[in-house]
Amino acid sequence: MSRLQQTHGLSDEQREIVATVRAFVDREILPVAAALEHADEYPQAIVDGMKDLGLFGLMIGEEHGGLGASLLTYALVVEELSRGWMSVSGIVNTHFIVAWMIAHHGTEEQKAHYLPRMATGEVRGAFSMSEPGCGSDVSAITTRAVPDGGDYVINGRKMWLTNGASANLVATLVKTDPDAGHRGMTTFLVDKTPGFGEVAPGLTVPGKIEKMGYKGVDTTELLFDGYRVPAARILGGAPGRGFYQMMDGVEVGRVNVAARGCGVARRAYELALGYARQRETFGRPIADHQAVLFRLAEMATKVEAAHQMMVMAARRKDSGERNDLEAGMAKYLASEYCKEVVEDAFRIHGGYGYSTEFEIERLYREAPMLLIGEGTADIQKMIIGRRLLDGAG
Ligand SMILES: Cc1cc2nc3c(=O)[nH]c(=O)nc-3n(C[C@H](O)[C@H](O)[C@H](O)COP(=O)(O)OP(=O)(O)OC[C@H]3O[C@@H](n4cnc5c(N)ncnc54)[C@H](O)[C@@H]3O)c2cc1C
Repeated sequence: MSRLQQTHGLSDEQREIVATVRAFVDREILPVAAALEHADEYPQAIVDGMKDLGLFGLMIGEEHGGLGASLLTYALVVEELSRGWMSVSGIVNTHFIVAWMIAHHGTEEQKAHYLPRMATGEVRGAFSMSEPGCGSDVSAITTRAVPDGGDYVINGRKMWLTNGASANLVATLVKTDPDAGHRGMTTFLVDKTPGFGEVAPGLTVPGKIEKMGYKGVDTTELLFDGYRVPAARILGGAPGRGFYQMMDGVEVGRVNVAARGCGVARRAYELALGYARQRETFGRPIADHQAVLFRLAEMATKVEAAHQMMVMAARRKDSGERNDLEAGMAKYLASEYCKEVVEDAFRIHGGYGYSTEFEIERLYREAPMLLIGEGTADIQKMIIGRRLLDGAG
């Protein structure tokens, strides 16, 4: 049995959940991932299977019908799912960010209204900060909500919504007071129908953004044109807290991206190890050439280091403390290592790594997404650096 990516101190229940998901990945995801990915097809059967396993309610509290699992359990599940196919983890990720934000910042009415249906997967969440003109610089968003009677009217254009079409709930960051900086930003819980076109009066999902990888999961724009939303759909009930709510959600998201990096890197390493054992050159398996063996050693070390860093970041958030420093470090390290491990696995495959018949080709197109999503490497370094100067160093 592999000694890599072991997590010490797990409960029996956590071990059972992770083992169940690993078996699901081996049985239901790995055999079909390549074909679905190449066809850019939404993995409906896999999503149905995840619903049956209760995965959409994994981190939602038992009082709302979920399994009440920790962020660590969730991250370990994401690591397993990403080992199978990163897009599948993308389908649950935005859902969990939104569920986390509602559970930690929502009113009692919002929790009761959304969380039980999110736990079953009937309501599926997307979250939207980015716009065509800004991603890293969240405070530069221009989408505006203006009060009108008991409602707000929203106008603007959002970009890069993962699950933008398949979700029916979008936690959307807008400006309610453009002169108030971060305190002028508000999160609205926007209900819509799944699909493309006009998904609610004044709300349009124009189409799918074509991507180099991370296929299967839909990524879209979202256009607000006089969209009316009741004030009761402000997350937490009062305007002005949206930036802080989103940053809390993004800390969960960063642990998730780190976990994805661990899963993709693990798969690339497994593929490389298997290939290096059976491919022969100059009369012996290529693993017996020291250059290849050293490459495998470096890959395994990175796989292990990223996992332990990710576990540490998840455990810190579970302890109730902010984990911005640790999540930033984990996300940065895991995504950079993932890119490097995938590249090394690609090299070990020789020419076959370039063939679409070999899985490493897909991983090679997926890994770069992790360098960007939930904040680029530069943004992680800014966060880490600031925390160090604040005294965390
Ligand atoms: C497939 C995909 C899915 C996504 N899903 C979502 C989603 O569900 N919801 C959502 O809200 N967003 C989503 N995003 C958007 C993503 O979060 C942004 O793309 C990301 O934050 C980077 O923003 P940007 O693309 O505007 O790049 P920019 O912010 O324009 O950055 C461009 C470059 O400049 C660098 N840079 C910027 N500012 C600084 C600085 N101060 N110091 C040093 N370097 C800097 C960046 O690191 C980067 O290299 C998704 C993106 C992709 C590609």
